[in-house]
Parts: sequence; C-alpha cells; structure tokens
Amino acid sequence: MFNLILFGPPGAGKGTQSERLITKYNLVHLSTGDILRSEVAAQSALGIRAKELMDQGDLVPDEVVIGMIKTKLQDNPTATGFIFDGFPRTTAQAEALDALLRDLETSITMMIALEVSEEELITRLLKRGESSGRTDDQDRSIIQNRIEEYTTKTAPIKDHYSAQDKFHPLEGMGTIDEIFGRISGVIDPVI
Ligand code: ADP
Repeated sequence: MFNLILFGPPGAGKGTQSERLITKYNLVHLSTGDILRSEVAAQSALGIRAKELMDQGDLVPDEVVIGMIKTKLQDNPTATGFIFDGFPRTTAQAEALDALLRDLETSITMMIALEVSEEELITRLLKRGESSGRTDDQDRSIIQNRIEEYTTKTAPIKDHYSAQDKFHPLEGMGTIDEIFGRISGVIDPVI
C-alpha cells in the first residue's frame, strides 16, 4: 500500500492537491475536515458538538477524529492506499494512526509537507471564505487561531515522522501545477 500524509497549515493547498493525487495514484482521500463538515451538515450528535469548536478554529477532540478515521479505514478494505489530509493534527493522533495502520499490516509511506508563508495563508483563506460559506474562513482572528493551533499542536508532528525518515518538506507557493509537479517528483521514485 501507499499511504501518504499531506501535511501543512490551513490554506496550504492540501485539499486541492489531494484531488489530483487520488486520480493519478488511485488513492482513497480521507479528509477529517470534510468528514466533520458532512457531520455538521447532517446535524448528527457528533456534528453538533464539533461545529462550535470548528467555528472558533479550535481542534476537535482526538478521540472523535481517531474514531472517524478508524471507521473510514474499515470501510475501505480493498484500497491500495490512502491520502490523509488534515489528519493527524496532534502527536496523539499520529500515534493512533500508526497503531491503526499496524493492525492492517501497513504503515505510513511518507509525509509531504506544503510550506507556505503566513501572509499567503491568510490571503488564500479570506479569499476562499468569500465563496466557501465556511465560517472559519471569514474572520481574521479565527484564521489566526487556526494558524496558532497548527503551530503549537500540529507542527510538532514533523518530528514524529522525521524520526521515521518519512518527512518531506516542499515549497507550497507557486501555481497548482508547479506544486503538483513537486509532489509527484517525491512520490514517483518510491511508488
Ligand atoms: P483547513 O482547511 O484549515 O486545513 P480542515 O478543513 O482540515 O481545515 O478542518 C477544519 C476544522 O475541522 C479544523 O479547524 C478543526 O476544528 C477540525 N478538524 C479537522 N481535522 C481535525 C483533526 N484531525 N483534529 C482535530 N480537529 C480537526
């Protein structure tokens, strides 16, 4: 199996690149943000609980997202690989993911991190907020909070995968095609 973590701060372009990667490499896309937003839209108990945190730009509890990922892995027994987008977001989530994959007798192949300046992130998110309808993209202070959550809780995961020799940082500025080319350049030699 080929299991990729596409990593980076909010607005780094993970969703955009994931869409192309699933087609090129025949992978299943697991985005915890998308799954949570569909729970919110369905007004499930989980969605109602998560909405308040998401609207403020805070992370939802680890056990909630770990449970969601576990279910999605079980739902896709014939997948030849996964892209994890927006997960893991804490070291506890990374450890849980490693354990879940171990149970399936597989593991993370690599983590590719898209690096984008904070100024560019804020510009992209505010622009997306004009059309996405996402409350968390429409307010500068909520965006700042998401970047802060990323810096304090999520960025340290780099160390977890560096220690396993799986961490690949990439320039995330440029055109969508240029960035896709850079990502493919890292994946193609190992797939
Ligand atoms: P972004 O576009 O900022 O990368 P996502 O769409 O991935 O954001 O996630 C939106 C929100 O959903 C986050 O701000 C957070 O509240 C929640 N969320 C998504 N994934 C996770 C996760 N793995 N752990 C905790 N909270 C999460």
